Amino acid sequence: MPHDEPAPLSMVEVQRSVAAELDRIAPVIDELGRRFTEAGHEIALVGGPVRDAMLGRHHNDLDLTTSARPEQTERLLKGWADAMWDMGRDFGTIGCRKGEWQVEITTYRSESYDPSSRNPDVAFGDTLAGDLGRRDFTVNAMAVRLPGREVEDPYGGVLDLAHRVLRTPGTPEDSFSDDPLRMMRAARFAAQLGFEVDESVVAAMTAMAERIEIISAERVRDELVKLVMGAYPRRGLTLLVDTGLAELVLPELPALALERDEHHRHKDVYEHTLTVLEQAIDQEQERFGGPDLVSRLAALMHDVGKPRTRRFLDDGTVTFHHHDVVGAKLTRKRMKALRFSNDDIDAVSALVELHLRFHGYGSGEWTDSAVRRYVRDAGDQLTRLHVLTRADSTTRNRRKAERLARTYDDLEARIERLAEAEELGAMRPDLDGNQIMEILGVGPGREVGEAYRHLLELRMDEGPLGEERAREELLAWWARR
Ligand code: ATP
Ligand code: MG
Repeated sequence: MPHDEPAPLSMVEVQRSVAAELDRIAPVIDELGRRFTEAGHEIALVGGPVRDAMLGRHHNDLDLTTSARPEQTERLLKGWADAMWDMGRDFGTIGCRKGEWQVEITTYRSESYDPSSRNPDVAFGDTLAGDLGRRDFTVNAMAVRLPGREVEDPYGGVLDLAHRVLRTPGTPEDSFSDDPLRMMRAARFAAQLGFEVDESVVAAMTAMAERIEIISAERVRDELVKLVMGAYPRRGLTLLVDTGLAELVLPELPALALERDEHHRHKDVYEHTLTVLEQAIDQEQERFGGPDLVSRLAALMHDVGKPRTRRFLDDGTVTFHHHDVVGAKLTRKRMKALRFSNDDIDAVSALVELHLRFHGYGSGEWTDSAVRRYVRDAGDQLTRLHVLTRADSTTRNRRKAERLARTYDDLEARIERLAEAEELGAMRPDLDGNQIMEILGVGPGREVGEAYRHLLELRMDEGPLGEERAREELLAWWARR
């Protein structure tokens, strides 16, 4: 998969794309257009779906903007929509479903923000131009009026889209002081769309980065997730690091741009990390069938323990002992601060902690027991651990890279053979708790757990023992105790 920027678009391409997409969604937009205008209101398709239509991308979530107030919108949707819900009346958004389409209709806004608070003060507006003027980027500040399909593009969004550049409708300074989250959104759209970010926008982001601190962790996280899941995450991440935003929202990342040691023995870990992320992305289609957040976050965080564990030895070499364990802790802490779910935190930090384990494999010296432990410790993250470990090889030495890949093939093949023979997925000792209690003649208690763990260790060292042998081993262990 190419990770570099997509080619610029021609106007003809843009027009053809938007016409085709509007025809595709005609069943829903034509009817909505008629319903609203017949009642004396304006309505227009706006934002993401307009932008994506011009880029030739389909969108089944349709965002519309209207002069109608939320109660009026509700009345007009009744009897037409299959289902309807209030997305937050205070923000003026009514959601509905019509067939396969999800529709969100928001009353025109002319927003003013209280700079000290995290939430916008919403004031409804009366004009489409006013509504477009408060949007984040020119490519998002375009609308298609319905039912006539006239394109409204007061800020030159079509041109910016063709040139693939993000600019703000007004000055970026005003825009970002109204809502600092837009700085994160710039990086997010750069990563999703592969767009360039205009110099003036980058300059304002750099000057105003600190304002991001009034935004809630959840909103920052949501943009970060979309960025990481984008087609060009390197772009978004580079922008966050270069503007100083990363220092505030994900400081572990810029910290990876370690100075090189005097002997140039290790490469820049930040650059390495971006490459690992891209190499993980390259494996996604085959392994997961599409983008995978946990895998991408694990790639991004796998080396964050390095700066803190770096030691220079007398001979001039550098070591990062235990950076896996330290990195897992830092990962957990950062993801917690960003309010990620516990499942995501557990998964990503487990992968960070395990990412070095394979290096003990040498050229295939692991015993079956070591292979079983690898599988057990990875648990349900095993596939992602395969992806991360393979992606983590960024040496320019072709022969070395190929050797590592072949060795990992070998490990995967061994895992598969063992899994087939032993049902590795469900690794349990040969006796369960009830059998242990019965054989030892004890009730539930600490010894049962100890016996269970002893048998599990044996099971991993030697493979399945069979019930008879397990019984003997259990009694022998009990006698030794
Ligand atoms: P996606 O495909 O990710 O939904 P989108 O462009 O629809 O992309 P949303 O976050 O859903 O992005 O926002 C919808 C539209 O609302 C945007 O296109 C933009 O015009 C506007 N918008 C959203 N958030 C902001 C914001 N913080 N400041 C200004 N405009 C915003
Ligand atoms: Mg949207």
